[in-house]
Amino acid sequence: MKIITFDIGGTFIKYALCDENFKLSRSTKIPTDAKQGGRKLIEKVIEIVKEHEHIDRVAISTAGQVDSTTGVIVYATDTIPGYTGTKIKEMVETATSVPTYVENDVNSAALGEAYFGKAKGYNDFICLTYGTGIGGAIWLNGDLYKGSFCSAGELGHIITHSGGKKCTCGGNGCYECYASARALVEGVNGVSDEILDGVKIFEEKNFNNPVIRTKIDEWIDEIVTGLISIVYTFNPSLIVLGGGIMNENYIVDSINERINKKLMQSFRNVKIVNSNLGNTAGMLGVAYKASKI
Ligand SMILES: [Zn+2]
Repeated sequence: MKIITFDIGGTFIKYALCDENFKLSRSTKIPTDAKQGGRKLIEKVIEIVKEHEHIDRVAISTAGQVDSTTGVIVYATDTIPGYTGTKIKEMVETATSVPTYVENDVNSAALGEAYFGKAKGYNDFICLTYGTGIGGAIWLNGDLYKGSFCSAGELGHIITHSGGKKCTCGGNGCYECYASARALVEGVNGVSDEILDGVKIFEEKNFNNPVIRTKIDEWIDEIVTGLISIVYTFNPSLIVLGGGIMNENYIVDSINERINKKLMQSFRNVKIVNSNLGNTAGMLGVAYKASKI
């Protein structure tokens, strides 16, 4: 079976071919050109599918809340204008005649973790990705928990600071305003002479700067605050943290150390790990689902 699998984000469309052993090849990355809108974006996806021969399935992991039964975007922010309501599955299947499966990007990453990553064999776990915002996915009783309107798991918008910073969701004080990778970068750049990104912050010279380290540690406390509410809600045995920033072992080690001091004893069995699939988790996860339709 030959699957073409996509990862559609606000900045890039990544895609790769995937074989029946779920090995990815010919990975490609092109700009999303989100400004052109949702319809144009899917037309571009269709063109890419048509450039390849003998494709058996199309798998699409995308930003936005997705009804994966109908393959429709239930809701998306204005990062991709007009994306809400886009009938991705219908558009792609009509144009290519190839069966298509669509899922939200963090849910796709959770599928990847469940079938190929560190969550393999776990019946219940939570997946979180830390980037510009914070995405969440909930895996309960061996499957994704989608909620009544395919939107469950918006864990970046649980409120950790009532009346706090204005969030892109329209609310105030959301978890992602304080604990996303972007929040760290903004916090550090407020005290640093040099402009630093998420990678540079952890270079030895910066990491050992006490002013920067304080900012990093305050940010990790913000991560822990949100995780505590999530652990008390779901009592998961595992939480998988994704997003490039989580490759820094200092973060995951500090989270484990600090959270165990704060949790009630009966919740301390939770294991918190970083993803080892990196940004291929979503493409693999959605490809797995596509292979089953
Ligand atoms: Zn919010």
